[in-house]
Amino acid sequence: MKKMKLILSVLVVFALLSGLFIKNLKQEKATTESEFIFDTLCSITVFSKADTPAVQKAFDEALRIHNLANFYDSQSDVSKINHAKSGEAVTIDKDILNMLQLSQDIFKKSGGAFDITIAPISKLWNFNEASTPPDEARIARLMPFIGTNLITVDYNQMTVSKKYTDVQIDLGAVAKGYAADKAAEVLKEFNVDCGLIDFGGNIVTIGKNPNSDDGKWRIGVQTPYAPMGEHLKTIDVEGDCAIVTSGTYQRYFKYNGVTYHHILDPKVGFPANQSYDSVTVCANRAALADCLATAIFVMGKESGTVLGAEYGAQVYFAP
Ligand code: AMP
Ligand code: MG
Repeated sequence: MKKMKLILSVLVVFALLSGLFIKNLKQEKATTESEFIFDTLCSITVFSKADTPAVQKAFDEALRIHNLANFYDSQSDVSKINHAKSGEAVTIDKDILNMLQLSQDIFKKSGGAFDITIAPISKLWNFNEASTPPDEARIARLMPFIGTNLITVDYNQMTVSKKYTDVQIDLGAVAKGYAADKAAEVLKEFNVDCGLIDFGGNIVTIGKNPNSDDGKWRIGVQTPYAPMGEHLKTIDVEGDCAIVTSGTYQRYFKYNGVTYHHILDPKVGFPANQSYDSVTVCANRAALADCLATAIFVMGKESGTVLGAEYGAQVYFAP
């Protein structure tokens, strides 16, 4: 009974911290472990006692990715890039290289809606309850340094260089998804054949759900701004899948009656103004789904749906 309570509370936390949550796990079989990484609750569920040592290895890998991408750690690869002078070649880890390659691709295909060089502007925005929007003139002065085309990646030398010293990158829209994929890879290396990863709403399913009759995973999509756990719809997925939500309600503040959220339109440096509050993307990889959810949010329903289709992803808008 005590164990059941503990696991139930973990499921509630899933619902609290992610845009997505997992329905119908029969508690007696599932073991969920959670760690606080990427400033959010990251959980891994496995269904056999033999699989639990692999879970710690998967968390170690997620933490390694976090540390490489950590904007606030002066030793991280991202900080090395951000502190480099124009034209200086900075040697980076293969995993940062992979994230840059995907980010460059989505930047081009989204017409600049997805842009990791949003960093000089994204760091002006705070999303605490008492926050206020940054000064528009300050944002305007930073605009010349925004554009993923201002960074050059040499994939053979494994280096990055920037056109201007003031260009900086923020991998906040891709790193959690990428880390969830890497955690799934580790679990598979340890022969885990069914499991579930939830890194703050970046969900990866592995194999069949042992607790459902048809083997499918039932993922609930959070109703934006509703009490946590209230869901708009359920997405059923089979086998190895990634489901990621980007939503205004995940990080926002209100000022003078206006809601300001963390998904920025790189063309204006302000939150992307859309009629919906979240975008959920199902794809074969969480890094891709993570990029696409952010990109599609900014692009809007029409062109966003076209981009999703180009990558063979399913896209849901809420409400
Ligand atoms: P996500 O929650 O995946 O949609 O990512 C949002 C985070 O990525 C923000 O908190 C920023 O750090 C960063 N970001 C915001 N807007 C963009 C954008 N248009 N393109 C890329 N990264 C962004
Ligand atoms: Mg994202």
